[in-house]
Formats: sequence, structure tokens, C-alpha cells
Amino acid sequence: MSEQINQHLPSYLDPDNPGPWGIFLEQVDRVAPYMGELSKWVDTLKHPERSLLVDVPVRLDDGSIAHFEGYRVQHNLNRGPGKGGVRFHQAVTLSEVMALSAWMSVKTAVVGLPFGGAKGGIRVDPRKYSQGEIERITRRYTHEISSIIGVNRDIPGPDVNTNGQTMAWMMDTYSMHAGATQPGIVTGKPIALGGSLGRVEATGRGVFIVGVAAARDAGIDLTGARISIQGFGNVGGTAARLFNEVGAIVVAVQDHTGTIYDPDGLDVEALLSHAKHTGGVGGAANTTAIAADEFWAIETDILIPAALEGQITKRNAHAIRARIIVEGANGPTTPEADDILSNKGTIIVPDVLANAGGVTVSYFEWVQNASSFYWSVEEINQRLEKIMLDAYQALTATAKQHEVSLRTAAFITACTRILAARELRGLYP
Ligand code: NAD
Repeated sequence: MSEQINQHLPSYLDPDNPGPWGIFLEQVDRVAPYMGELSKWVDTLKHPERSLLVDVPVRLDDGSIAHFEGYRVQHNLNRGPGKGGVRFHQAVTLSEVMALSAWMSVKTAVVGLPFGGAKGGIRVDPRKYSQGEIERITRRYTHEISSIIGVNRDIPGPDVNTNGQTMAWMMDTYSMHAGATQPGIVTGKPIALGGSLGRVEATGRGVFIVGVAAARDAGIDLTGARISIQGFGNVGGTAARLFNEVGAIVVAVQDHTGTIYDPDGLDVEALLSHAKHTGGVGGAANTTAIAADEFWAIETDILIPAALEGQITKRNAHAIRARIIVEGANGPTTPEADDILSNKGTIIVPDVLANAGGVTVSYFEWVQNASSFYWSVEEINQRLEKIMLDAYQALTATAKQHEVSLRTAAFITACTRILAARELRGLYP
């Protein structure tokens, strides 16, 4: 494996620690045997189409000048313009952005959106800077990557530590250069600037839609079904509310403030309100606090990791007693844990499908911006449901056909779509 990886690592990365990009290369190798006649194009996936590394010099509030490293990677543009968020984090690396952009190629192809995969980032700890400094960092970064982004070229969106305000600054900066307001240059904008209704809850709603479908296939009656959720933010909180509304009971929730449990079902609305006012679920009234490690062993029908990557590992996978895992977070399950769970017969609805609701409604936002015609929230939710269910059904059919997990089926489906587009377009010149 390491020889294979060495060929594809950027020269300045440590070959003994290939990082997220190394994980993606392994995933590609695993799916290659299923590519048939398209396999001659597989190496395309191992080479991001374009990787831009930029210096972001900014004047700080005290008058000094600081330099930040910024990235925008377009992994694959065969099926359409690049799409992917911008992450502000002190530990972000080019390897991480490369991998995240590749997973966006897979995600957009799994749900059949006419986008390629891209991702961006700035190596900055946003908590250490004022709003004014963050605005200047965002604007200078946007200027530096403006040579490769564009409404029909590559459309950024929010990711870790970026939000609607960040997107508003990016849109404004790009529009100032273009000499005309360009709402479609980013998605995840505030509604007042052309953002889409339904975008905020889209990822949690998508988790719910595929979770319901997977439960039905597994013969689980949702009335009284037990749900446990790690992460009670945008994704986990929305999924909890929607499952609760159809009669499922949320028995356990874990977030960064604590782990709470009630075998008879937590009061989801009260919990959402408590988390909103206090910043987390810890200390909520009428709940029992349990140790963080106990969370994973709770008997549950559906487990939804919706917090961070790398949470389900070989350490806790054996203890998990869930029938279905719906991955709201990106990369919550390590490959070793994946194997342990698959061997136990646990059904895992993989992140590249389960959390694709967000990018799907981002696509709707981009379409609405292009036509300057805005849809009702009912239309958004209906279209989202159709796309998520069609993708889920296609993956279950592929999984059956090849006798593989839903995750492998997702990679087979996505890579086939990307490489078929590659073959049709041919190689230039
Ligand atoms: P958020 O910031 O709204 O919520 C994150 C939640 O995770 C919070 O409840 C927080 O308390 C919890 N958390 C943080 N550290 C934790 C820890 N150590 N242990 C347990 N819980 C912890 O974020 P979000 O938008 O809900 O995103 C959650 C996940 O979903 C992330 O992996 C994100 O990449 C992924 N995702 C989000 C979207 C989206 O549209 N928001 C789209 C695709 C994927």
C-alpha cells in the first residue's frame, strides 16, 4: 500500500503518515475491481484536478500583518462545476482538503447532482480573531482563489467554523470584482441574499429520510423505535426532532457537554430548547447522565453519529448494539470499525449518502439563483426526499448485486458515474 500511496502524495507530505488523502487512495483501490472497462480511468481519481495553495496576508486589529495558508482543491470536474465547503481550522492541511474534495466528488455523484467535488480551507483558529479580522481573512482568501472559482466553475459553501455570514462576505467580494451581484458563487447564504428555504435543516432531514427507508427495509416499525444520537447540533438536533415526530423515541443523546439517557424516551423539544439556551444537552431536567463510553453500548434500533469524524473505532465497535447506523457526520466510522460492524450484520448507511441532504439543497439554492425564481419549502423538501430515496434505492440494489456493504456500493455507484463521464469526454488534447 505504501508504495502505491507514495506515488500520489504531494512531495512535501510524510509518506509514513499519509493522512486523510491516504485513506481516500485506499478506498479507491478497494473499489477499482468493480470498475470493469472503466478501470483504465481509475487513476484519474488519485490525482486531484487542481490544487491551489495561497498566502492570505491580513492586517490585524493591532496593525501587525499575519499570513495564513489557504487552499482550494478541485478534485474532479468531469460531471460539472466543483462543489464543496470552506473550512476554517488551525489544523487543516492540504492532504485533508484533498481528501474532503474527493469525498465531495463521491457524494455529489452518489445523489446524482451535476457537480464535481471541491473543498477549501484556511489554516486559522477563528476563535483567536475578531469579527473584523475574520472578515478580512475571508475576503482576501476569496480574492486569492477567485481565479479558479466561479458560478459555473466551482461553488464554495460553508463547512466547519464558516457560516452564512462567511458566505455573504465571499459573495460580496467576488461580486465586487465581477461588477455585478453573483448570488450563485456560493451556497449556504442567508435567505436575504438568495439562500434557500430548507437549507439549514436539509442535512438532518436527509438523515431522517434515508433512516426511515433503512428501517423499513430492516423490518423496524418506527413507532416506538429506539434512537440514539451523538451530536445535537444542526444535523443531530434536526434528525432527533423528525424521528420523534413520527413516533420514534430518542433514548440517548451525547454531545460535548455530556451524555444523557432515558429508556422511556427523552423529551426532544425540551432538550432542543435546553441545548439552545445552555449550549448543550448536559444537565437537562428529568434526564439521567451516564458515562460517555456507556453511550455506545446502549441497545438501540438506530444509532446516528452526527458530531465528529473517527468516533466509531475498533475500541467501541464491538460494544455497539444498534441495528442500523446512519452516518450524519462525515467519516464517523473508521475502516476497522466498519469491518467489525459489517461482520455483526449492522447496517450502515454511509455518510456519502446519509448526509448528502445538505449539498442537495445547496444545489437547489444554486439552481434558484441561476433562474432568480425561488421555491417554497414544501417544494424543496419534496425534491430532497425524491433525490435521497432514489439514491438509497440505487445503492441497496448495487449492494445486493455485488453482495457488498452500502458504503462499497456508494463508491461503486459514484466512481462509475465519474469515470463514465471521464471516458465520454476523453482526454484532452
Ligand atoms: P454543529 O456544530 O451544529 O453540531 C455539532 C454537535 O457535535 C454539537 O452538538 C456538539 O456538542 C457535538 N460535539 C462536538 N464535539 C463532541 C464530542 N467530543 N463528543 C460528542 N459530541 C460532540 O455541527 P453540524 O452542522 O450538526 O455537523 C455535525 C456533523 O455533520 C459534522 O461531522 C459535519 O461535517 C457533518 N455534516 C454537516 C452538514 C451540514 O449541512 N450541517 C452537512 C454534511 C455533513
